[in-house]
Amino acid sequence: MGKEIDIKVKAKFVSKISKGFPLIVKESIANLNDLQEEGSLVRLVDENNRFLAKGYYGIQNKGYGWILTRRENEKIDQSFFNGKIQAAYEFRKSFFEDGETTAFRLFNGEGDGIGGLIIDHYDGHYVISWYSKGIYFFKDYILKALQETVEVKSIYQKKRFDTKGQYVEEDDFVMGEQPEFPLLVKENGVHFAVYLNDGAMVGVFLDQRDVRRKIRDEYAKGKTVLNMFSYTGAFSVFAALGGAVKTTSVDLANRSLPKTIEQFSVNGIDPEAHNIVVMDVFKYFKYAVKKALKFEMVILDPPSFAKSKKFTFSAGKDYTNLLKDTISITEDNGVIIASTNCSTFDMKKFKNFIDVAFKEMNGKYEIMEQFSLPADFKTIPEYKEGNYLKVVFIKKIKG
Ligand code: SAH
Repeated sequence: MGKEIDIKVKAKFVSKISKGFPLIVKESIANLNDLQEEGSLVRLVDENNRFLAKGYYGIQNKGYGWILTRRENEKIDQSFFNGKIQAAYEFRKSFFEDGETTAFRLFNGEGDGIGGLIIDHYDGHYVISWYSKGIYFFKDYILKALQETVEVKSIYQKKRFDTKGQYVEEDDFVMGEQPEFPLLVKENGVHFAVYLNDGAMVGVFLDQRDVRRKIRDEYAKGKTVLNMFSYTGAFSVFAALGGAVKTTSVDLANRSLPKTIEQFSVNGIDPEAHNIVVMDVFKYFKYAVKKALKFEMVILDPPSFAKSKKFTFSAGKDYTNLLKDTISITEDNGVIIASTNCSTFDMKKFKNFIDVAFKEMNGKYEIMEQFSLPADFKTIPEYKEGNYLKVVFIKKIKG
């Protein structure tokens, strides 16, 4: 391990860091030039050289590194990483013991004490996401800690650094016995076909687990369901298994068609009985209005930011309009499930988007449920931005 670099924290950032904020932001550092190599350990001190915390230097879109400990004498060594991964494992023990769910998050960045590091579990196979060169520097420690804590069938990795957090195409396989793909995993008894070696997205977003279960168990029965931004159709599969009359999945990406057929098939559902549409959702809204199509449940799960041929969508700016389009094709007493993973606004603001959309459409609504991240996506109160997921079940009431 290299030597520690002292980093002077500007006065106005000291109290936030003292209160537990885990991110080292660029603006807070007085002596930026002393930071040379990512992966260096840094010792944060105030302007009077009083110790605040220790962390590592690693550049990602969010900041310049993460705090690892607030104890001056704690060493950042193999036993540090073992301790963090072990604690993360203990916290998810009930997941490891649950045979009905074999895909979940083992390690959630700063929520588990190491920002920039994510480890997901897929039936004994692990996917590690490195969010900076800095955290990647600790790779050997982390691989060892993981193997000492859990039984590892294989490990894959996603390097999410270099160009602005964009995924870098290269061999994802790290070690172990490679499974055959698709690997079939389970979530509350439902199958998912996942590909751990096929780009940044493996086929399912684990953070929507509780929402999918709710849809299947309490909302889908007898409904016509529209799933917008459907990707591999995970919401459609759960809706279909919950007794939806018919689902329509809409996504712009060509891959969504075969992927959705596959997810239906591995669950014994006839894909022919459902609609899978490769189309821009904004075009689909127009099509639905023209054909006077209405749905009893509409699921909206857009990316925070997306560019298509005709439109650019930014959740922070455009969610209200997305909801207005949705309201006009939702039946009275129908349910809109509005989701966003955008971390630039909070639940309060999201609910405000919902309120404005209904007001502008002269509509009435009632909020039935709301969700944030599931338990395995551990977050800390000192870093609210980490709790990015917001999902609201809204009933459209006849006005
Ligand atoms: N709801 C999905 C995850 C959505 S990921 C799930 O539960 O698994 C975001 C998806 O939005 C991507 O598959 C992307 O192809 C799609 N997308 C982005 N912009 C779009 C647009 N304008 N119209 C349709 N799909 C779009």
